[in-house]
Amino acid sequence: MKAVVFEEHGGPGVLKYTDVPEPVISPNEVLIKIKASGCNYNDVWARRGMPGMSVIMPHISGSDASGEVAEVGSEVKNVKPGDEVVVFSSLSCGVCEACARGDVFFCRQFKIWGFQTGPLDGGHAEYAKVPAFNVVPKPANLSHEQAASMPLVLFTAWRMLVSRAKIKPGDFVLVWGAGGGLGTMAVQICRLHNARAIAVAGNDDKLEVAKQLGAAYTINRSRQNVAEEVRKITDRRGVDVVFEHVGEATWETSVQCLKWGGTIVTCGATSGFEARTDIRFLWNKQLNLLGSHMANKAEFLEALRFVESGDIRPAIFIALPLKEAGLAQQQMEDGRVIGKIVLSR
Ligand code: NDP
Repeated sequence: MKAVVFEEHGGPGVLKYTDVPEPVISPNEVLIKIKASGCNYNDVWARRGMPGMSVIMPHISGSDASGEVAEVGSEVKNVKPGDEVVVFSSLSCGVCEACARGDVFFCRQFKIWGFQTGPLDGGHAEYAKVPAFNVVPKPANLSHEQAASMPLVLFTAWRMLVSRAKIKPGDFVLVWGAGGGLGTMAVQICRLHNARAIAVAGNDDKLEVAKQLGAAYTINRSRQNVAEEVRKITDRRGVDVVFEHVGEATWETSVQCLKWGGTIVTCGATSGFEARTDIRFLWNKQLNLLGSHMANKAEFLEALRFVESGDIRPAIFIALPLKEAGLAQQQMEDGRVIGKIVLSR
């Protein structure tokens, strides 16, 4: 089968569109004929190499995929060949105490499929295998491209805002990167909970999309001062929640924008990990700093219900052929993408 593979870290040039063996399934696994896979920023982290994490080579990235079940293992009962499915990319043992509680991300065997798996075990290929637990029915109202664009950013943003930060009606929520993958989901999740998203982005085209998705306010960070605008919008009070994933470049502003007793929830650090926190603000303003990572399957299924009802919509920038994965990653690194890029078969 064809796949996008790399065997060494580097720029987009290390990605090769090449032939590799088709995956062979075990009794509890499902083979999927992939129709579309979604590009995520973790594709870029894996290709570049991430401090403290070894990427298994040869590597196929891709943590989001939508397709048709081609074959099932002898023990699989939940799907059959021909079913249309999307992948839930949080892999865990399924039997330990953490898994039993639904805290799959605390399982010692927790892995993100298409990022920490391998060799040759990800979505940017013609076929892929995953445990039967890790497929869910594709929402019938979405194309494969639309379905592949959503899962990872949808369930991550859902867990961050709903399970961790527990947003409430009326909350002001500052959403960094509101035109990005996570941000386009976050804005819609805020709207769904009657919270007021303050969308931040680097250009007006991204802010226009954020507005269409339900942002209550917009800030163009390339020509406006984010902290000043937040003060104006919230009548000097500050926001209830900051939706963080940018890290070093935005962290101090995020802390500055919080109301007393407010909450930052973060899942990433696109701009760097060494963010500075003046801990005087932490105790004086009694702030809450929350980490969040991926989600469990119940959170994913809960969020998907709102996709099926049309309340949360996909935001696709462009669909490219599979062999253009390098171009997709370059566009993500250049910050040009609004929403998501998907790779079609
Ligand atoms: P995208 O590339 O789709 O969006 C990132 C956004 O960040 C861009 O739209 C850009 O917005 C904004 N941004 C980049 N640099 C800066 C900066 N210096 N200052 C302000 N904003 C900036 O990525 P995703 O939304 O998919 O993911 C974001 C991060 O979250 C990644 O690092 C990813 O690895 C991580 N992540 C972590 C997960 C987890 O479970 N731990 C799951 C999913 C993602 P603009 O320039 O318009 O302001």
